[in-house]
Amino acid sequence: MNIQWYPGHMTKTRRQIEADLKNVDMVAEIIDARIPVASRNPDIDAIVGSKPRLIVLNRADQADPAGNRAWRAWFQDRGYTVLETDAKTGAGVSQFSITIKEALKDQIARWREKGQVGRIVRVMVVGIPNVGKSTFINKVAKRKSAKAGDKPGVTRGKQWVAVDAGLDLLDTPGILWPKFEDERIGLNLAFTGAVKDEVMDAETLACHLMETLAERYPDALQERYKLELPPVSGQLEGLAYGYDLLERAARKRGFLISGGEPDTERMAKILLDEFRGGKLGRFTLELPESV
Ligand code: GDP
Repeated sequence: MNIQWYPGHMTKTRRQIEADLKNVDMVAEIIDARIPVASRNPDIDAIVGSKPRLIVLNRADQADPAGNRAWRAWFQDRGYTVLETDAKTGAGVSQFSITIKEALKDQIARWREKGQVGRIVRVMVVGIPNVGKSTFINKVAKRKSAKAGDKPGVTRGKQWVAVDAGLDLLDTPGILWPKFEDERIGLNLAFTGAVKDEVMDAETLACHLMETLAERYPDALQERYKLELPPVSGQLEGLAYGYDLLERAARKRGFLISGGEPDTERMAKILLDEFRGGKLGRFTLELPESV
């Protein structure tokens, strides 16, 4: 993996979050709706503990609507509050404050009984890179400014952001990492562009993506690349099936190199770009059943 692993920085981030938890009433965990498993930090439940949690299924516009429904139900069944958003356009973001206050209404009523009328609700925002955390924070706080780059180990001041008169956000300093150990998780992060392409050469990654799409979303492949999907034969080893699909797609597009061979490298880059750009449709690559 090209993202370097800094165990020391992870420990620092974790300690910082644990210390900040005392100052907040709820944690909003932003995840990528296309990959709700891969886009979570594996230790987040242990770190956050019993603090009330909002799961923000961001990039909902890029995920399969049926997948969004399935994940919403899955998280709600486990006691989380769920909000679907598209931070890029802002769809769903306006519900953030209302959703938080509704989830904390008993707590807010207790504050009121104690005379703490108008006490500001404070929410910590966490999320691994590329889930859309900074876009979300900018949108929810109605600010345009780009974030200061997150650099592991660079200490910053506390990032309190006012959402409205009754709600403040705390942006987590440092970086929360996804789980790299599992191959499927690494692939899903790479397909969506959450980890850089140098992690794996584009052709190999595209073969994996072809196989994943052929299994989960065959119609999208057929439609976009006019592919007749051959039946998966038991004899095809490794990525032979994915490579075959890549060759077929290259031929259909007329991507040929001298000698008439399909230009699979070019096709690989196109497939990854088109997938990430939403040209093939909306996908949820992980389903609750796989947890
Ligand atoms: P961060 O690393 O989690 O802070 O991610 P960013 O906020 O920097 O977002 C990365 C890219 O994804 C940017 O180009 C955003 O415009 C885009 N993006 C963020 N959220 C969404 C979303 O909900 N839908 C879509 N389509 N794009 C998004």
